[in-house]
Amino acid sequence: MTVSSIQHVVIVGGGTAGWLSACLLAAKLPSLSITLVEAPDIPTVGVGEGSWPTLRETLSDIGISEAEFLLECDASFKQGSRFDGWVDGSEEDSYLHPFTAPPPEDMRGFLSAWQEKDGDNCFATAMTPQAQVCKNHLAPRQKSMPDYAGALNYGYHLDAGKFVTLLTKHGMEHLDVVRVADQVTDVTIGSNGDIEALQLRDNPALTGDFFLDCTGHAAALIGRLCENNWIDRSDVSFNDRALAVQLPVSSNSAIASQTIGTAHEAGWLWDIALPTRRGIGCVYSSRFMDDERAEQVLKGYLGQQFPDANLAEVSPRKLSFSTGHREKFWVRNCVSIGLSAGFIEPLEASAIVLIELSLKALADNFPASCATMDIHAARFNDLFRYKWDRIVDFLKLHYVLSNRMEPYWQAHRAPETIPARLSEQLSLWREQPPSTWDFPQIDEIFSAPSQQYVLYGMGFPLPMATHEDTDEASVSLLEINKRARTLAAALPSNRDYLAAIAAKEA
Ligand SMILES: Cc1cc2nc3c(=O)[nH]c(=O)nc-3n(C[C@H](O)[C@H](O)[C@H](O)COP(=O)(O)OP(=O)(O)OC[C@H]3O[C@@H](n4cnc5c(N)ncnc54)[C@H](O)[C@@H]3O)c2cc1C
Repeated sequence: MTVSSIQHVVIVGGGTAGWLSACLLAAKLPSLSITLVEAPDIPTVGVGEGSWPTLRETLSDIGISEAEFLLECDASFKQGSRFDGWVDGSEEDSYLHPFTAPPPEDMRGFLSAWQEKDGDNCFATAMTPQAQVCKNHLAPRQKSMPDYAGALNYGYHLDAGKFVTLLTKHGMEHLDVVRVADQVTDVTIGSNGDIEALQLRDNPALTGDFFLDCTGHAAALIGRLCENNWIDRSDVSFNDRALAVQLPVSSNSAIASQTIGTAHEAGWLWDIALPTRRGIGCVYSSRFMDDERAEQVLKGYLGQQFPDANLAEVSPRKLSFSTGHREKFWVRNCVSIGLSAGFIEPLEASAIVLIELSLKALADNFPASCATMDIHAARFNDLFRYKWDRIVDFLKLHYVLSNRMEPYWQAHRAPETIPARLSEQLSLWREQPPSTWDFPQIDEIFSAPSQQYVLYGMGFPLPMATHEDTDEASVSLLEINKRARTLAAALPSNRDYLAAIAAKEA
């Protein structure tokens, strides 16, 4: 019996998921031949402008320089997310979830020392110099550092459309990706259940050994291979709509170092600063807010942020999304990546990072032949079911810790909407801080430090058993404070950093 090897990968979809897949697989597995089919008249979702620090390694693996990426994608540095109004909606209600973790020592000691000696500082300010750097709109690195290295951990804010353009150009010019502009109209499935070929509207059918479904919400391949393969998570995560706008900014305005998420009566608003514009959106739950009210909420925020703008001329783009994910992401010889695999909501920007992790898992374990396909599929499905569950838990954490009283926020705290594992963890965290025991995988998206920043940022009670001896932790906290001052003096502003690289490349 001959076992056929896997040589030709066909990717359908030309959004962030499709082009990241094409570039990363081509760069990591150069012996594969890769074809990407994208329908010229089906638009990409066109949002997705906040990344995780993982994007640095991904871009480096693909072979794109950091300066090229920053300039081509109108990108800026993202060092975390700030949450305004999530605890009670008061003026001073604000906390930061930075990307740089607290020092790796025992968190109990830090919590005791913070409580005893540094209580005036909020948790993030006490635990990392990044909070001060974000406050001053500073870059996380100096220009002299090697590409993708930083004094602090960071990701990016970027223009999603320009990112796809850059990846397309790079994939075709440097990585031999073949692009077919056409629409898949049907999927031919062989007698063994594998995809054999794709029927195209304007070209002959396309065959392949292995297929990636990156068709976004259409899920044009995985949806055909497997019915009843969707897990609805709207019982936990209520948001299903967004209104998005982009407003230009002046070339000397400060560029914020973090995504700003401002809570409102039935959801939240994102605010992402790029060098030339701010992308602002209102995320909401259609169960609790109609589109008209969402537009009022959005325009209320825009009015505060852009007092001189003519808001009558601002016409937001409406996006609807289903909240959930596949039960099986890999079926036969097809893997769904990106929105075709699922989407929860934009909070904490978990989608692009999940695309990257899916591709890393796939590239590191790429099936050499059909013989091992089922083994790989089962492992991948287990791994990513775990990851989606953890995303759902972590996003929910932001809502269950709130004291806001509007019906939407009260509904979020109803016990039947809280996943069982999260409820258990909240009980544990009353006695001990989140640790790697709770999040044991090597590439957890939201590891223990992320949970700590949200918990203690939102005023969760400190664990009952803290450390009595706080001397060592107090010294570390003082050092963090000192380093914050050193970095504040040494790092350029985001605006100056980006202007300097633009001038150099001009
Ligand atoms: C409101 C909102 C905000 C978001 N914010 C963030 C964020 O800050 N950070 C983050 O990480 N993620 C965010 N996301 C998610 C992010 O936008 C997506 O994960 C990312 O853009 C990937 O999309 P995609 O490539 O899977 O799908 P799409 O962009 O929808 O691309 C689908 C592609 O498939 C093609 N296609 C469809 N059907 C066919 C067919 N039959 N034949 C051929 N081609 C076809 C289309 O032409 C298109 O090229 C956000 C999402 C939403 C809705």
